[in-house]
Amino acid sequence: MIDAPAAEAELRDAHGRRIEYLRVSVTDRCNFRCVYCMPLAGLPWLPREHTLTDDEIVAVVRELAPLGLRRVRLTGGEPTIRPGLVELVARLKALGTLDDLSLSTNGTRLVALAPALRAAGLDRVNVSVDSLRPERVAELARRREPFDPLAALDAAERAGLGPVKVNVVVIRGRNDDEVEALAALTVERPFHVRFIELMPVGELADAEAAAGRDPLALVLPSDELLARLAAHGRAIGRPLERAEGPARGNGPAAYHRFSNAAGTVGVITPMTHTYCGSCNRVRLTADGRLRTCLYGDHEVPLRDALRAGAPLRPLLLEALAGKPREHALLARRTGGLRALSEVGG
Ligand code: SAM
Ligand code: SF4
Repeated sequence: MIDAPAAEAELRDAHGRRIEYLRVSVTDRCNFRCVYCMPLAGLPWLPREHTLTDDEIVAVVRELAPLGLRRVRLTGGEPTIRPGLVELVARLKALGTLDDLSLSTNGTRLVALAPALRAAGLDRVNVSVDSLRPERVAELARRREPFDPLAALDAAERAGLGPVKVNVVVIRGRNDDEVEALAALTVERPFHVRFIELMPVGELADAEAAAGRDPLALVLPSDELLARLAAHGRAIGRPLERAEGPARGNGPAAYHRFSNAAGTVGVITPMTHTYCGSCNRVRLTADGRLRTCLYGDHEVPLRDALRAGAPLRPLLLEALAGKPREHALLARRTGGLRALSEVGG
């Protein structure tokens, strides 16, 4: 048994880390099938009645607020395909307890939704952009129609959903020839382009292994990537410098800037550098399980308690007590890692 902290206490886990950030997966479904994330055939989708309702998501955030929760990110799956997303944003904002309410999206619905999301109180967006070429986006997302991610970035910026972060999963041999072009976006535009080391899981990893290749060879380590960006900076007369990240929502990325550029470039390094020691986040899955580490198995189900009207607080404390000190991915034990679309990556 853990002693319940005073109502105004900060939310801390058993290793003293302050937990102020919740990522909420609002749907397990997606209109993309990114090669590194979701099987082409999709997943056994949750029955709709298993997905948390708006009332239930709002209740979890409300309950966590007095314990120190200040930041919420809506993710998925693809959050913009959840019906009523704009209303959910408005309700979370109306709680008045969040400093930062953000959204991770593949961008496909941003042109349509960005103004309404901003008006409802969304602060900012992260847009996943693995390529600037519409045909390659479609190929990596295994989607028939080409999709122009720049239109999504423009829509986000125009609507005032900044600082706009751009997430790029780099796959050696598939899109790493575009890292310089993607980084160069930041010279003129106030974007924060973050290169994420591929976590080789799922169908992509299985296909490599089946072909007799090491899936880890698909990972472009961040040190190699930064060396390439530094060379690019020298080539364009804008040396790459260490930089502060965007003012809001700094997570595990380390930031750099081409000299005098409008935006920054960053790296997120799940494969080569652990950042577990400063991990300040927990995740709520679409079916209401509080997951304390992206890569572990530790989850505490909240949905039944929510539906029975039982108090959540003991469950929240139980979840935090079990948050692991660090994850097992670096030890190449990927047990428990499910597709990120399922757990709100
Ligand atoms: N659909 C939204 C999107 O794509 O931004 C939100 C959910 S997606 C699961 C969240 C993030 O996880 C995206 O930036 C995606 O690129 C990243 N991601 C998914 N699978 C990954 C993997 N195997 N390795 C690295 N990043 C991954
Ligand atoms: Fe969908 Fe995002 Fe996963 Fe791509 S990364 S399949 S867009 S959830």
